[in-house]
Amino acid sequence: MVSKVAHIGIAVKDIAASAELFSKLLGKGMDHTEDVPDQKIRAVTFQVGESSIELTQGTEPDSPIAKFIEKRGEGMHHLSLVVDDIERELARLKAQGFQLIDEKPRLGADGYYIAFLHPRSTNGVLIELSQKKS
Ligand code: ZN
Repeated sequence: MVSKVAHIGIAVKDIAASAELFSKLLGKGMDHTEDVPDQKIRAVTFQVGESSIELTQGTEPDSPIAKFIEKRGEGMHHLSLVVDDIERELARLKAQGFQLIDEKPRLGADGYYIAFLHPRSTNGVLIELSQKKS
């Protein structure tokens, strides 16, 4: 079951500059920063109510975020949804015809398991499912 929007992911080129910009925009400091070597990203999170805004910068030229920016420029990258059982949701969505990028969940930022659905099957929006590691 999907319970809420976890975060909106925004791809940025210079995370320090963007963190400062969003800090001004939101009127508060960042809540969390983390390197995720597995995805070759650095992430900065701002909690906004029950959800958050996640700025991500690629740390390697072949990072998916760096490639995204090269192709489309900076901007909204993905929508992350909290689920209670990520394996079950992946199976449910696959059975309904959604295209999975990740057949199996992997470790994301901030102690979450994550898996992506292909934007081809979701109206052009890259969807990330995330489940808090218990
Ligand atoms: Zn995310």
